[in-house]
This record gives sequence, structure tokens and C-alpha cells, in this order.
Amino acid sequence: LPEYAFIGRSNVGKSSLINMLTQRKNLAKTSGRPGKTQLINHFLINKTWHLVDLPGYGYARVSKKAKKTFQKFITDYFKERKQLVSAFVLVDARHEPQPIDLDFMIWLGEHQIPFSIVFTKLDKLKPNAIEKNIGHYKSVLLQYWEEIPPYFLTSSSKKMGGEDLLNYIDEINQSLTD
Ligand code: GDP
Repeated sequence: LPEYAFIGRSNVGKSSLINMLTQRKNLAKTSGRPGKTQLINHFLINKTWHLVDLPGYGYARVSKKAKKTFQKFITDYFKERKQLVSAFVLVDARHEPQPIDLDFMIWLGEHQIPFSIVFTKLDKLKPNAIEKNIGHYKSVLLQYWEEIPPYFLTSSSKKMGGEDLLNYIDEINQSLTD
């Protein structure tokens, strides 16, 4: 089954987003496959695709060695996954583009792994700030890419943006079976 991976800095709102996406859905949490590390959670959605919940990166208070190990864990996942269709990189809409997120997106690009951006916690911003921040983020992205990747504006606490994201995934899945 096609697989979509969700990833972002710790505290970006990934668990909340996944809860929002998986609520009301025909959901089964499939435990780690044999031999696979417990760090990764899989959710089977509508019996048609897997949502893969990757651990948050960018812990401030871990050693360099721990960071390296963690980085390897994530990059190994992306290099090995044959079923992976696309990654969703979560970023907090309130913050400036973070080097760790941009570096990760660049790495995905270098490995021909398609990705989208999920802006989180939109409820924390006023409409004019949303426009300003997203506009700024886009202009930074355009320094690296000719086109802006697909992106989604979400708020898990306001239950906003989840349907768009799920429809986007359904459309890709549809095109895969056509
Ligand atoms: P994770 O570490 O990326 O899984 O992040 P969590 O989902 O645990 O969220 C981190 C913190 O941000 C928690 O305090 C959440 O309540 C808060 N949070 C997550 N999503 C939203 C959101 O859409 N709006 C607001 N206002 N807070 C959020």
C-alpha cells in the first residue's frame, strides 16, 4: 500500500495533526512490523494507505552523537521505503523558516523524494500575520526551488485543513491505481 510519512521538529504539532487526520476515519493503528523499530508508528487509513508517523527531529538537548544516530535513522527510513509516495514536512506557521527544516527538505529533494509542507497552529496567527508568514516562507523556498511544493494550512485545535490534506492524498492514490 502507498505510504505517506509525516515528520517535523519536536513540538511542531505532529501528534495533534495525526489525531485530527485519523479521527472519523476508518483507522487501524498497525503496530511496528516485525524487525522494524518501535520509533515508527503506522496507521492504516481506509484500508487504502499507510500514514507513517516519524519521530520529531531537532531536540535541542541531545548530544551530537545522539543527533547523528537519529539523523541516520531517519535517512535510512527514507532511503529504504519502497512504498513511500511522499513526505509531509510539518512547520510551525509562526516561525521563520528554520535551517533544520530547509536542510531536510533539500535532502529530500536530493534523494528525489517528493514532499509537501504542512503549516501548523494557524489558529495562533491573525489573518494578516498568516499572509505575511506564509508569503515569507514561500519567498525563502523560491531561493532553493523553482516551484513552491504543495502546502497545507492547518490548525488541529480548530480542526482546519485536514480534509484538504486527506483529499490530496486520495487524489494521488487514485492516480496510482489508474
Ligand atoms: P509534536 O511533538 O510535534 O507531536 O506536537 P504535539 O501535537 O504534541 O503539540 C505540541 C504542542 O502544541 C501541544 O501543547 C499542543 O497542544 C500544541 N498544538 C498542537 N497543534 C496545535 C494547533 O493546531 N493549535 C494550537 N493552538 N496548539 C497546537
